[in-house]
Amino acid sequence: MTAPDDRLAELRNNLAAVRSRIDRGCAAAGRSGSEITLIAVTKFFPVTDVALLAELGVTDVGESRDQDASVKAVELAEHTSLGVRWHFIGRLQTNKARSVARYADLVHSVDRQSLADALADGARRAERAALDVLVQLSLDDTADTDDGDSGRGGEKADDLLRLADRIAGSDVLRLAGIMAIAPLHGDPDRAFSRLAEVAERLREHHPAAGIVSAGMSDDLEAALQHGATHVRIGTALLGRRTPQFR
Ligand SMILES: *Cc1c(COP(=O)(O)O)cnc(C)c1O
Repeated sequence: MTAPDDRLAELRNNLAAVRSRIDRGCAAAGRSGSEITLIAVTKFFPVTDVALLAELGVTDVGESRDQDASVKAVELAEHTSLGVRWHFIGRLQTNKARSVARYADLVHSVDRQSLADALADGARRAERAALDVLVQLSLDDTADTDDGDSGRGGEKADDLLRLADRIAGSDVLRLAGIMAIAPLHGDPDRAFSRLAEVAERLREHHPAAGIVSAGMSDDLEAALQHGATHVRIGTALLGRRTPQFR
C-alpha cells in the first residue's frame, strides 16, 4: 500500500499532467480548458482516493458499478467534509436503477426506454425533484472499415433521438445531453465526429441538452477536438486498474 502522503503526491502529479493535456487539447481545438469538466473515474479504486482527489479540487467523480458506487457515496463523508458530484457512467441494469437514482447526480448511460422508466421511478421514490441524465450513443459501428454513416448508424441515431424526446417529456428526468465511448478498436476521430453530428441534432430539438460526455485516458484529445464538454479519465489520473477491467 502506498502511504497517503505519497498517494496524494502521485494524484497531484497525475492531475497536473491531465489538466495540461486538456489545456493543450482545447488550445488545438480553439477552445478553452475552463469549458471542460474533468470527471475522475475512480472505479476499482478506494474511497480514500475519492477524498484525496476532492482535496485536490476534483469534485466530479465517475463510477461504473452500482455495488461499489453506492457504498463509496455513503462512506465518503467519513474521509472528507468535501462533497462531490457522482456520475454513473457504466452499463446499468434496470434492477439497479432504483439504487443509482438515490445517489447519482448525473447518469450518463441511458440507452433504452425501460432504463429511463426505471430511473424515473427510482428518482420519484427517492423524492428527488429531478435527476439529470444523458442518452448514450453506441459508436460500435464506426469501428468498421466501411462507411460509418451507413444505415445502421443512422437508425441508431434516430432511435436515440426518439428516446431523448421521451425523456424530455418526463416529469422527473432532465435531459442534459449525450454520452459515447469510442470503439476499442477503431479511429476515435471518426467515432467522435459522428457523436458531434448526433449531439448537434439533439441540441436542435433540446437546446438545454448541452453536455457531450466523451474522451477517456487514451482518446481525450480527439474528444476535445469534437466538442466534448465532460471528459471521463481513469487510468491517467489514478493509475492502472487490474488488467481484466477496461
Ligand atoms: C473506465 C471508464 C472510463 C475511464 O477509462 P480510462 O481509459 O481508464 O481513462 C471512462 N468512461 C467509461 C464509461 C468507463 O467505463
